[in-house]
Amino acid sequence: MLGLPADEVLVAGEWRRGAGAPIRTVDPATGRTLATVHAASVDEVAEAARGAARAAADPRWRTLLPHRRAQLLHRVADAIDTAAEHLASLQTADTGKALTETRALVASAAGTFRYTAAALETAEETLTPSRGDCLTMSVYEPIGVIGAINPWNSPVASDAQKLAPALAGGNAVLLKPAEWTPLVSLALGRLITRVLAELDLPTGLLSILPGRGSVVGDAIVKDPHIGKVVFTGGTDTGRTIARTAAGKLMPVSLELGGKSPTIVLADADIEQALAGVMFGIFSSSGQSCIAGSRLFVAREVYDTFVGELVERVGTLRVGPGTDPDTQVAPLVHHKHRDSVAAYVDLAREEGATVRCGGSVPPGAAYSEGAYYLPTVLDGLDNSSRTCQEEIFGPVLVALPFDDEDDLVRTANDSVYGLACGIWTRDHRAAWRIARRIDAGTVWINTYKQFSIATPFGGMKDSGLGREKGRDGIRAYQRQKSLYWGMSDTPLAWAN
Ligand code: NAP
Repeated sequence: MLGLPADEVLVAGEWRRGAGAPIRTVDPATGRTLATVHAASVDEVAEAARGAARAAADPRWRTLLPHRRAQLLHRVADAIDTAAEHLASLQTADTGKALTETRALVASAAGTFRYTAAALETAEETLTPSRGDCLTMSVYEPIGVIGAINPWNSPVASDAQKLAPALAGGNAVLLKPAEWTPLVSLALGRLITRVLAELDLPTGLLSILPGRGSVVGDAIVKDPHIGKVVFTGGTDTGRTIARTAAGKLMPVSLELGGKSPTIVLADADIEQALAGVMFGIFSSSGQSCIAGSRLFVAREVYDTFVGELVERVGTLRVGPGTDPDTQVAPLVHHKHRDSVAAYVDLAREEGATVRCGGSVPPGAAYSEGAYYLPTVLDGLDNSSRTCQEEIFGPVLVALPFDDEDDLVRTANDSVYGLACGIWTRDHRAAWRIARRIDAGTVWINTYKQFSIATPFGGMKDSGLGREKGRDGIRAYQRQKSLYWGMSDTPLAWAN
């Protein structure tokens, strides 16, 4: 009833059964097998990269005017809208996420293609000021073939964030979805190849290559045809990719992990702060790079705020993603649920008090799925492993702070620098703290809100480079400077 895609992968525009090992994808709400997809093999990665290089150089694509590339992106956006319910259900089945969330992610994927089309239409090349008798300009050209590697947490949206600007920039793309969640990326690939064929564009522009990261992902990064890798995932994997890229002198952009602080000052609007803190960590069951997983509360309001928070967290509705009332859906995979549970055990060993949650939910309804109760911990020091390592699950650690300097020092005492939330009525305090915190994105009196027009990326171990925004397409292009001599006289030696 989900209309699962046939057991095929996309190699340079051709759908076929992959020659790699079979991948069993599982519905995390029930533990049942959803589909078995045969992964791409290393040879197929090489074949896809060669096909992509040919497609990128094909005059039908190479000379296509920007407004025609924009037309492609608009058609993809329309195709996503038409298939929205199918894509959302597929993603809910594969990732466990609530349907309300996957519908929003699908809508955001269509929006990303439309925004990028508009940015492409208005991204004019301009003349640069000349310092001699020359006409000078700087132009942007495609890199050629892009390797895009994504994690399992929000596939359709993160796929769109890479595919739209990569195609807008005039490139071909090899996309590797995560091994646990290949289905929605394959379905998106079907839509895009159909649109490419309709517009008589080379279908080899796109490959969707599911498979193990250490095999298929590694082969993509090492392939000599790949001119840039754009990666979203864990910091350790990002480092491995960056090391390989250094050997090829290949640019990379890395969107990595986080352990983001959410800060509640004593004067905050408590209702708003409670709702925002809960949404910031427990939506997506905490499986979000920007999850506000460390809660810093001013000591004078700490006991009341955390007490009220714990009471409300206890009322969050845990259930399958298909139930419209669900607020906390299962985690992506049983193995990941076990890793989250192991972190809570570690927290106990480190001396944490489990204020709520701290186990799988009781009851037969939850026995087969990868569920974990939303959990609030306190009594830990920020130097503990629980506070320093990314858990990527519904686990919040609360910590009191005494003053602004203490807060900034402790919040910044992390290898990560992805996001931060500040809840206060004092706009000057918000400004000061926002400027002092190491984070690529700071939300003030809101959290986890996104605009495709606003650049996104991390500081420190949270990543390199920025996605989105008008300049997002430029990250998929190379800049070239042109000097056009205008003088009638031959060049002189002296300068
Ligand atoms: P991951 O283990 O790093 O995997 C991410 C992707 O990389 C997967 O497709 C994976 O394949 C692949 N991969 C693994 N090893 C590789 C290698 N040696 N070479 C090339 N590719 C390789 O991360 P994850 O557990 O899927 O995702 C969770 C992480 O992503 C968290 O740390 C989260 O914070 C981060 N994230 C960051 C952002 C952001 O924008 N900053 C957004 C979302 C998620 P397999 O599926 O086979 O492992």
